[in-house]
Amino acid sequence: MKFLIFSEDGSNICGIATKLRDNGEVYGVTIEGEESKCLQYGLKEVYALKGRPMGDNCFKALNKIDLTNFDRIFISSSPLGRDIAGMIASSIRSIVITEAFDFHLEGENIRTKRFFFGGKTILEEESSAKVITVQPGSFEPEKVDGNTPVTMADLEVSSITLDQEVEKERSGTDIESAPILVSIGRGIGKKEAIDQIMPLVEAVHGELSGSRPVCLDYKWLTEERQVGLSGKKVKPRVYIALGISGQIQHIAGMRGSKTVIAVNKDKDAPIFQECDYGIVGDLFQVVPKLVSALKQ
Ligand SMILES: Cc1cc2nc3c(=O)[nH]c(=O)nc-3n(C[C@H](O)[C@H](O)[C@H](O)COP(=O)(O)OP(=O)(O)OC[C@H]3O[C@@H](n4cnc5c(N)ncnc54)[C@H](O)[C@@H]3O)c2cc1C
Repeated sequence: MKFLIFSEDGSNICGIATKLRDNGEVYGVTIEGEESKCLQYGLKEVYALKGRPMGDNCFKALNKIDLTNFDRIFISSSPLGRDIAGMIASSIRSIVITEAFDFHLEGENIRTKRFFFGGKTILEEESSAKVITVQPGSFEPEKVDGNTPVTMADLEVSSITLDQEVEKERSGTDIESAPILVSIGRGIGKKEAIDQIMPLVEAVHGELSGSRPVCLDYKWLTEERQVGLSGKKVKPRVYIALGISGQIQHIAGMRGSKTVIAVNKDKDAPIFQECDYGIVGDLFQVVPKLVSALKQ
């Protein structure tokens, strides 16, 4: 079988190629400058596209590789990826499965898993889809010996023009690679309460992260610190959830954590189904006790 993977920042190629490489030849496409990330994952060839990537010119560049040659085309799920996926699916007359976080090849078909009903349930489907968009971070990349050859290709000038680009507010934090996360939820009550959480963050040498209400709705933390289905997928050694109820959309982002400690005043909070250590209590009483215990 022949597979093609597109990921503009290269990183999603590594995990998907790891998953696919025992089933056939895997080819990758990324943007110039990102190709070095994906050269040790058993791909047959990596194409690096040179120029400013937009939906139309990336699609044209991919078409030059002859998309009909591939049994399946996997596209990293991003605004650009989803744009291209639709164009590819319509050009090769396939359906497209979007936002998959797991898949298995089943003969001529593919079995995919994705969140459904706003993340409340998982939809498992078997289909003949040739185009699948895959959520970043879905598969653990594993290196193999040998280096994949790179072919450079020029992107045409896009017919889309950008009037203005506005940078998202960033603090340079990378919660995805933090070994210890202290994550806060709506249960902290107000932004000022973060001051009472920081001694714990410092005591465990961790990073601060949060649930969607905290990062997106109330903006107590920046968006890049959001854990969950529509935020970052994190895999720390220790994840400490403070005042987080543990809805499925949050769990989707922290399920890969090794050890989960939860503090919640509601003994029936779903987070207690997901944690290794649970403390039923008021976080504002529990946190100082944890800090003083850690200092001893
Ligand atoms: C499509 C979609 C995508 C989503 N994506 C995400 C996502 O990426 N990330 C995400 O987090 N959510 C996401 N959500 C929202 C999600 O469904 C929940 O609404 C959200 O996770 C709830 O956040 P929370 O736990 O902070 O707040 P709540 O559910 O309000 O929970 C607050 C918790 O704090 C506890 N508490 C209150 N006071 C204290 C105290 N003093 N001490 C101890 N405990 C206390 C309460 O008992 C409660 O359990 C998404 C929803 C949808 C529909």
